Amino acid sequence: MNALAATNRNFRQAARILGLDSKIENSLLIPFREIKVECTIPKDDGTLVSYIGFRVQHDNARGPMKGGIRFHPEVDPDEVNAVAQLMTWKTAVADLPYGGAKGGIGCKPKDLTTSELERLTRVFTQKIHDLIGDKTDVPAPDMGTNAQTMAWILDEYSKFHGYSPAVVTGKPVDLGGSLGREAATGRGVVYATEALLAEHGKSIKGLTFAIQGFGNVGSWAARLIHERGGKVVAVNDITGAIQNPNGIDIPALLQHKDATGQLGGFGGAETMASEELLTIQCDVLIPCALGGVLNRENAGEVKAQYIIEAANHPTDPEADEILSKKGVTILPDIYANAGGVTVSYFEWVQNIQGFMWDEEKVNQELRRYMTRAFREIKSMSRTHNCNLRMGAFTLGVNRVARATLLRGWEA
Ligand code: GLU
Repeated sequence: MNALAATNRNFRQAARILGLDSKIENSLLIPFREIKVECTIPKDDGTLVSYIGFRVQHDNARGPMKGGIRFHPEVDPDEVNAVAQLMTWKTAVADLPYGGAKGGIGCKPKDLTTSELERLTRVFTQKIHDLIGDKTDVPAPDMGTNAQTMAWILDEYSKFHGYSPAVVTGKPVDLGGSLGREAATGRGVVYATEALLAEHGKSIKGLTFAIQGFGNVGSWAARLIHERGGKVVAVNDITGAIQNPNGIDIPALLQHKDATGQLGGFGGAETMASEELLTIQCDVLIPCALGGVLNRENAGEVKAQYIIEAANHPTDPEADEILSKKGVTILPDIYANAGGVTVSYFEWVQNIQGFMWDEEKVNQELRRYMTRAFREIKSMSRTHNCNLRMGAFTLGVNRVARATLLRGWEA
């Protein structure tokens, strides 16, 4: 099942549980606006190359639409639609005054030079500048993009609209970015894990973790889990996979990856086949990479008791069923990875107020938002006698449906 079909299915199930009117159900499902633009740039050698850029603005009932822009070869309209919709439920679950959007360009950022990436980002911004803005749609980093990409968007947008730092979040701190934003998604994953474990009378200390993906999210999650006394027994990324049943020394691994650009060759662990990571013996599995990695082929083999969805839609519906029959508890993506957009919200608030917070305040508020959302998801799953994924979907969908109804339908 593709990402959009799986996302729609979760949404429709939540709508049924909530008893939503079919008119509202359909209006919530159809995106507000879908943008597709051609982006042609000269490469450094002078040859022209064309890319397709997308921005799907899914819903704005609760506020400006919000979500990342990814540069990745797998960017296609269905995938962007699915993750844009997930942003709508995610911002509602975290109770941020936002709707949802997502965008991207189908490209391999590693094959482009910095100046080519800058030109591509600027051309894309020129094509969408009149459809984004601090009160309409606020982009942020995602896979393959970072604070520098946001700085280029900010600069290009400002040529048309005047200096507007709140048009993007995840900016460099020197341009009004928030302290703590870089670590926020990984930190939010850890706060979410703590909330779940506490509910089961457990804590991170002494438990074993396998982390799939060692980019921004995975590496921050690993570092913070290690700091709390959790044992990270396996990690992987596109360069390979490593394991150590006694726990990997994460600060040393981060140094090794910084120096060599890869996980392999690290002295403190053994290499292993990457696909074995998802089914390795551990207490908590944290997928931090692409969607659809847990499916009917491997779900039956998962040994973890808990799965924390740091990636977007890592578990397809068939795997969801298999895992739930095995008694595995899944903390769903629209909650588990909401730390990034939550600190994006803090960044936007700071830009609008013209007042910067210190990092301690950012982290404290992030913990408060993540803990509150967990309580509210639990309460929805108790009320509707459903799992945490449906608890989160019903919480988010209900908030968006209420806002839609309050705003009314009169033309
Ligand atoms: N790309 C992140 C996400 O998918 C962050 C979005 C944002 O900060 O707006 O949640």
